[in-house]
Amino acid sequence: MSVNFKDLAVAGVQTLHPYQPGKPIDELARELGLNEADIVKLASNENPLGPGPKALAAVEQAIADITLYPDGFGFDLKKALCEKLGVEMNQITLGNGSSDILDFITRVFVNDGDNVVVSQHAFAIYGIVAAMVGAECIQVPAVDYGHDLDAMAAAINERTRVVFVTNPNNPTGTWVGRDALVSFLNKVPDNVLVLLDEAYFEYVHEADYPDGISLLANYPNLVVTRTFSKAYGLAALRVGYSVSSPELADLLNRVRPPFNVNSAALAAAAAALSDDEYVASSIAVNDAGMKQLEQAFNAMSLYFIPSVGNFIAFRVPQGFDAAAVYQGLLQKGVIVRPVANYDMPGFLRVSIGTETENKAFIDALTAVLS
Ligand SMILES: *Cc1c(COP(=O)(O)O)cnc(C)c1O
Repeated sequence: MSVNFKDLAVAGVQTLHPYQPGKPIDELARELGLNEADIVKLASNENPLGPGPKALAAVEQAIADITLYPDGFGFDLKKALCEKLGVEMNQITLGNGSSDILDFITRVFVNDGDNVVVSQHAFAIYGIVAAMVGAECIQVPAVDYGHDLDAMAAAINERTRVVFVTNPNNPTGTWVGRDALVSFLNKVPDNVLVLLDEAYFEYVHEADYPDGISLLANYPNLVVTRTFSKAYGLAALRVGYSVSSPELADLLNRVRPPFNVNSAALAAAAAALSDDEYVASSIAVNDAGMKQLEQAFNAMSLYFIPSVGNFIAFRVPQGFDAAAVYQGLLQKGVIVRPVANYDMPGFLRVSIGTETENKAFIDALTAVLS
């Protein structure tokens, strides 16, 4: 008798659907027989400027030491974060990308049969880390594509362990203001954790946009995650972090694999934190690119969801199928992101690129829709 190994997998894993990443450039180049240089990838919200000079220099230096295990504590990076954020070392948990922290939080706090609360159109990783531990993921309908925080608070029940709030949210680009967030935090029971995912924090200009870290002192059940994958341009190195109370950080660090962040990533992230010039130009490129794309969508009469991130979700016109438009763009060497699995079947998400990349996308889209 042959063994059905799927039956041996833990129940949560049997139900799991793996995360679908944006299509890699080299894969499309192989499929189309194109040069990688002719392909524009605007699919994973990466920084179009490439790595910053300080981060790059730090990586080059770190290479000399790759025979040694990295600093499992991450002292230099934690110290740099403390100086930047005004927090203490014992509040920080380092992750192999901030996605790592999302996994830690469910493994520490969520039991089989418990649940987590998320918004409709939320980042797919939340559902995956919940399923992995056998938890239910309660999805609360969005309002105008954004989080309905009142409804999310109301959805909390006695089996709820974590509520995931993404500010701004990916893939919608919607955001919640300070008053709404504080009033939500006031409603969440003390024994339910709030994971506030601020992956796109650096891009947001809105005056009323709350800095989650400033709320930690009042809400001991709050965990704020940020990443070096977006504005800091280090997605491939995989480094992110959370800031929380020391008590929560201690628990998260208990499940953290000892060397989860490699030495090149640690060095690059610490250096990137001091590269204000690079971050400022990343944000300037994003602001200009956002305007460029909004103008193009308006000119084409395409509906888009106003976004404060480094990406924008737009609806394909009536009579077109989003999957077909996605394929049409691929044929022209432009990779965007289908979001049907985010409950947004008529939409595609495009990351903001350089002016040239954005133009290539707009030209390709115009051709595909004509
Ligand atoms: C990109 C992104 C992250 C960051 O992922 P990393 O693991 O840090 O690369 C986290 N949350 C959301 C909502 C994102 O879009």
